[in-house]
Amino acid sequence: MEVHFSPDGIHLPELGLWLDPRRPVPAAWLSHAHSDHASGVHSLVLATPTTLQLYADRWPDPAGARTELALHPLETIEFRGAELTAYPAAHILGAAQLLIARNGERLLYTGDIKRKLPLCGWPTIVPPCDRLIIESTFGLPVFRFLDPEPARLRIAAFARECLDAGEIPAFTGYPLGRGQEIAHALTQAGIPISVHGAIARYIPFYEQAGYGFSGWQPYQAQKISDRALVVTQDLRPRLEAAQKNVRFALVSGWAMFDSARAASGAEELIPYSDHAGFEELLGLVAESQARQVDVVHGYAEQFAAILRARGIQATARA
Ligand SMILES: [Zn+2]
Repeated sequence: MEVHFSPDGIHLPELGLWLDPRRPVPAAWLSHAHSDHASGVHSLVLATPTTLQLYADRWPDPAGARTELALHPLETIEFRGAELTAYPAAHILGAAQLLIARNGERLLYTGDIKRKLPLCGWPTIVPPCDRLIIESTFGLPVFRFLDPEPARLRIAAFARECLDAGEIPAFTGYPLGRGQEIAHALTQAGIPISVHGAIARYIPFYEQAGYGFSGWQPYQAQKISDRALVVTQDLRPRLEAAQKNVRFALVSGWAMFDSARAASGAEELIPYSDHAGFEELLGLVAESQARQVDVVHGYAEQFAAILRARGIQATARA
């Protein structure tokens, strides 16, 4: 199967299909709804039903010009002479890999992926393939992340410690994915929370998928005492200026490094990620049984070199 890598995305010319294209195209597979993977209005969009809902929310199509084709996880459809199957990727709600089987060859594209269980989302399933296109956002041995249960405990413990001391715990997270996972972990622990609008906007999608957020309230600048805050990072300067007793926590893969304190302003660093850590990436490659691996994103050059040193045919792609 021909695969073209370019700054516009990954193109499969025999299928006329782009994988997570960065410009409008006639036909696109969207691995998940983060804007660096799902953006622009494509004529035909293939994705899981949840990703299609999130994508439509972020990129409305009022003229109805777009055609959507839902791939339910683990269901196979025929598409232009190939068989397409979506496999869960655990990155954010709705995230999926795409397996493309054509003329006896199996190509697997991970999109953003993690191997450990997520706080919210489907567990990853890796099908065997001949060729694997895998992300390597955290493709260096230093990156090892918490399992969901220790992450949940760390999040709740920091919130309780602050609240018991009469201080305000504030967790910063991305609007889609991490923010809802933090909010879910806190409410599951019985901690009252206020959630910034950019994050709260996607709570209904998570509720629809079965995740509870009991008792959460919208963030209001004047009402932040006795609650944990789940906010976007850009709110930090305003919070710090208005409230002297706010303490920040960073829940992120980058929380591996002490330097993240200076960069983020967070005193509590919780290394939990929606991407795979290094050992998880190696596990994904091994499980896929791929003979050929293409590495994209992040530490692609380094991770491809590490795979080659282990006898795997691997190439970093820009
Ligand atoms: Zn992503």
